[in-house]
Amino acid sequence: MSHAHTKLAGLYAYPTVIPEIPANKDAKLVLVTGGAGFVGSHVIDRLMLQGHRVLTGCLDNFYTGSKRNIAHWADHPNFCLLSHDITDPLLIDVQFDRIYHLACPASPPHYQSDPIATLKTAFMGTLHMLDLAKRTGARFLLSSTSEIYGDPQVHPQPETYWGNVNSIGPRACYDEGKRVSEALVYSYTGVDIRVARIFNAYGPRLSPSDGRVISNFLTQSIQGLPLSVYGDGSTSRSYQYIHDLVDGLLLLMESQYSLPINIGNTCEYNLIQLANLVIKITGSASDIVFAEAPIDDPHRRRPDISRAKEILGWEPKWDIEQGIRETAEWFRTISMELRPEI
Ligand code: NAD
Ligand code: UDP
Repeated sequence: MSHAHTKLAGLYAYPTVIPEIPANKDAKLVLVTGGAGFVGSHVIDRLMLQGHRVLTGCLDNFYTGSKRNIAHWADHPNFCLLSHDITDPLLIDVQFDRIYHLACPASPPHYQSDPIATLKTAFMGTLHMLDLAKRTGARFLLSSTSEIYGDPQVHPQPETYWGNVNSIGPRACYDEGKRVSEALVYSYTGVDIRVARIFNAYGPRLSPSDGRVISNFLTQSIQGLPLSVYGDGSTSRSYQYIHDLVDGLLLLMESQYSLPINIGNTCEYNLIQLANLVIKITGSASDIVFAEAPIDDPHRRRPDISRAKEILGWEPKWDIEQGIRETAEWFRTISMELRPEI
């Protein structure tokens, strides 16, 4: 996705003016659960900007999301915000065409802070949203995760790999929660489903208090604080920029493919490489400090994206330097007003 595209969608600095949206005869009624969160708010931006005259509903309980992420759409006639906890059924009489089901805390500190809430969101929340999809005839996309592969013994990970998850560890509420979400959508009958296995994403609107590594490293480097590397620094992930992820999710939703598809970037970085990159891009004088590795932290992860390439014609377009530069710009913009929270 080109830089120009991002600037068109450059809504993430909380603007007061939004671009005019052209009319489109193929307008769809779309519900985005978790729409006030990091990924959901970008999905909503894209749907609103696409010119599809998308009537977008955002459903969220603001557990980890923020109304500010979608505030720029608040007065738009195509947009509606529903405050709702998906662990309760949603009995509304609206015929949605599409449901992007993204509601679930995604950062380890957040999903581990109340593991039962995470499990209830993954199980009951997904079940309730499937019920809604069935009642309304909506196509349903589940945001699953690379975490279902656990600490993988196969590298890189294709969709056919069954994973290596500790079912009683601190990450289990999320990993097993998402595995049960997948089991639910494939057991449920009568709903047209799509399943995205999302690998680590980053970008503007990641909350500075999110706790995920790029958010922490950027917050720390902008403040001149040492970057907290957990473990010996050799742990790796493959980080995708938010706009690539949104491209992939929208393509998957409109595809005819119902099996899981990995959406991720194949460029793998260990923590030392990532920390040095963030320090270089932000021009920071920060150091690195080492802290204990979290229990069950997967040691390495990289997607096999052959399926996404073949079925969706999708592959990431943003390299990590570009993405981190733009994310750093956003963190700088908000760092003053959010300082007390950090
Ligand atoms: P996020 O925490 O920023 O957003 C999640 C949103 O869901 C928040 O707005 C939160 O308030 C809402 N939510 C949580 N529980 C809810 C409930 N019970 N009822 C209603 N709303 C609820 O997370 P994110 O990074 O935007 O992730 C979005 C989705 O993508 C999640 O399902 C996550 O598992 C998946 N995912 C994300 C990543 C990533 O790197 N960001 C990677 C893999 C999978
Ligand atoms: N991590 C780190 N410092 C931080 C936060 C995370 O070194 O301040 C590490 C974490 O232990 C993991 C990697 O960064 O090895 C990615 O963590 P994140 O929480 O971003 O994503 P996930 O573990 O869910 O893939």
